[in-house]
Amino acid sequence: MSGRKGAPQLDRWRRSAEFREIARRQCQAMNRKHWEGPRCEAAKKSDGEPCQKPAMTNGRCHLHGGRTPSGDAWHMPRWPNRGAADGMEKLDRKLKDQDRAARKRAKRLAAMTPDERERHENWHKARKPGAAAARQRTRDERRQNTEFRKRSATAPRAPSPELQTINDELANLRQRLAKIQTDKGVFS
Ligand SMILES: [Zn+2]
Repeated sequence: MSGRKGAPQLDRWRRSAEFREIARRQCQAMNRKHWEGPRCEAAKKSDGEPCQKPAMTNGRCHLHGGRTPSGDAWHMPRWPNRGAADGMEKLDRKLKDQDRAARKRAKRLAAMTPDERERHENWHKARKPGAAAARQRTRDERRQNTEFRKRSATAPRAPSPELQTINDELANLRQRLAKIQTDKGVFS
C-alpha cells in the first residue's frame, strides 16, 4: 500500500468504509457549493424546484440524466461514448466488471446444493427478461395452462377401452340373467 512506515492504523482507517463514506459526502458538499459549471434544471420531486446539482454534459445531474435506459432495454449495458477521451479506459473497466460479475455468478452456482440450484433455476425461468407485453403474454399463457391442468386433473376421466368392453359385457350378461329369471318366473 503506502510507502510510509509507522502508520498502519491510519492506513486502515483511510481504507475503511466509514472513512470513505465521510470523504464521499465531503466531496459532494464541496461540489455542490463550489461548482461553477452548469447546474441541473430538472424539477425535484420533493418541491418542484430546479435540482441545481452539478450537471453532466447532457445538462442534467447523474440522478436526472443518467444513461440507464428505461423501458425494455433497462438491463442492457451502456457503453462509453465513442469520442470520449477516457473511452477506452471506461470500456476496459466495464468489460472487466462484466467478467468479474460472470465469475462471481459461476462461483455462486457451483456452490449451490441441487435443491438450491433447482429453486434458483425455477426463479429465473419465471423471470425472463424481455418486452413487457411479451412477458405479460407468457404469464397469461402459464396461468391458463395451470388452470387447464387443474381442471383436467379433477374432471372425471373417460374409462379405458378395456374397462368399457368389460362394462358392456357385464351389462349384456345382466340383461341375459334378468331375461332368464323372468322366463323362469313365467314357467315355474
Ligand atoms: Zn438533477
